[in-house]
Amino acid sequence: MKIGFKFGGQKKSVEDTQEEMNKNPSETSSTAEKPDNTNGPSGQNRPRTIGELKASGYKPVPIREEMRRNLIALIKAKRPIFKGIIGYDNTVIPQVENAVLSGQNIIFLGERGQAKSRVMRLLVGLLDEAVPVIRGCEINDNPFSPNCKSCRERVAVEGDNTQITWLSREDRYGEKIATPDTTIADLIGDVDPIKVAEGRYLSDELTMHYGIIPRTNRGIFCINELPDLMERLQVGLFNLLEEADIQIKGYRVRLPLDIILVASANPEDYTSRGRIITPLKDRFGAQIRTHYPVTIKDEMAIVEQEWQRFSDGDVNFYVPDYVKEVVAEITHLARKSADIGQRSGVSVRVSIANMETVVANAIRRATVLGEKLAVPRISDFPYIVASTSGKVEMEGFEEKNEQKIIDDLTKKAVLIVFNRYFQFDELEPIVKQFNGGFNVETSDSMSAKSYMRYVKEIPGMAKAVKKMTDAETPETVASVIEFILEGAHLNKRLNKTKVEGKTVYKK
Ligand SMILES: [Zn+2]
Repeated sequence: MKIGFKFGGQKKSVEDTQEEMNKNPSETSSTAEKPDNTNGPSGQNRPRTIGELKASGYKPVPIREEMRRNLIALIKAKRPIFKGIIGYDNTVIPQVENAVLSGQNIIFLGERGQAKSRVMRLLVGLLDEAVPVIRGCEINDNPFSPNCKSCRERVAVEGDNTQITWLSREDRYGEKIATPDTTIADLIGDVDPIKVAEGRYLSDELTMHYGIIPRTNRGIFCINELPDLMERLQVGLFNLLEEADIQIKGYRVRLPLDIILVASANPEDYTSRGRIITPLKDRFGAQIRTHYPVTIKDEMAIVEQEWQRFSDGDVNFYVPDYVKEVVAEITHLARKSADIGQRSGVSVRVSIANMETVVANAIRRATVLGEKLAVPRISDFPYIVASTSGKVEMEGFEEKNEQKIIDDLTKKAVLIVFNRYFQFDELEPIVKQFNGGFNVETSDSMSAKSYMRYVKEIPGMAKAVKKMTDAETPETVASVIEFILEGAHLNKRLNKTKVEGKTVYKK
């Protein structure tokens, strides 16, 4: 089984990659953002044989030295190393840098949605732009010291004429999610029964079918959810790292690899007894604890960076700051809620998906009503049950309960955010208007224009709206009016009832 198997797949030489870049510059433009750690010749002038490589004076170095050298260069140049990672500047990032400077394997411990995978993948930016390998080698052999038998034989025959190719940094990264059914064959390799039947010597490496780790030789290999790996495989992994020696189906195979091993795990799984064999634990020089955004500001910054926007329709959108704050606050409250299981955590992806949902509901409304601007409102928030419930573990089992838990979190979040903007006495003139039977109906399907009369009818409303926004578009004003009414209700200044899909605020 190859669940969650992510790997570069077919290896591409740098020449191939450049051809692709010419074909489709937009797709590969992200690589231009990578730090320019060029060691040795680049582009068209790259040597193509071992002889040419020798003549160029190129000196291959072990991956630990390569990453260390490039990291030091980036630090000196004050260039960003983990681009797009927010909130880790004083916690996770210095620890990762220390691990790289120490040449250590790293394990990241953290709950879901703490950018572990992203940090792991960004380590690729510390590799050289490309390194030379013997052309056709399955395990990326160093041209000057080939490991596999087929390369050793080729170099013995072809000598300096042996062809080499250049492996790009993106192709030096392998990743696998550990599952209980991950096998030695997936990770390390298997002996090929057909070749064995051909009469080859059984412990001969030529009979090996390499797994993902040897194929990531001279690169970074990441294994996610390490505790889910069977103990037998953990022993295999340890032997590979420690002894460069592995037993497969009873045959000893020598496999000296030059690899940085990076892993991730949920902290509870990792520390619980018996889930990880101690010798393997010892092979991780650095154990780094990741965390959720500490501040609402960081949570909002991540959402702002990540949420998916589309610009294909004829409806524009605008998201008021208070909506962003409520979205972030709901997630922060969920991380402390007794109604939500905290073992696997509440991912930042909850915030991102909730943001997308409230904007989507606003766009849906604008489209139905023929409005040109979509602005999310409080009445859009009940829809986040769809983007929240699958990503958190509710302590209750009934569906009813789910909606209730999420509604309660939303109310608490709105109250916290509202009280950041408004003082109690600012509500007085607004609330006064509701004496004597005055009421206001709101709903996620009502047009923005239908709210506009309240700016005039309710004394103090114009001033309160002005405090939240300078915009005079009905869509934005309607959103702010809902926020103010809900804030007054949550501060126990107005009652609220639901009638036929509409919310009625009254005394
Ligand atoms: Zn080889």
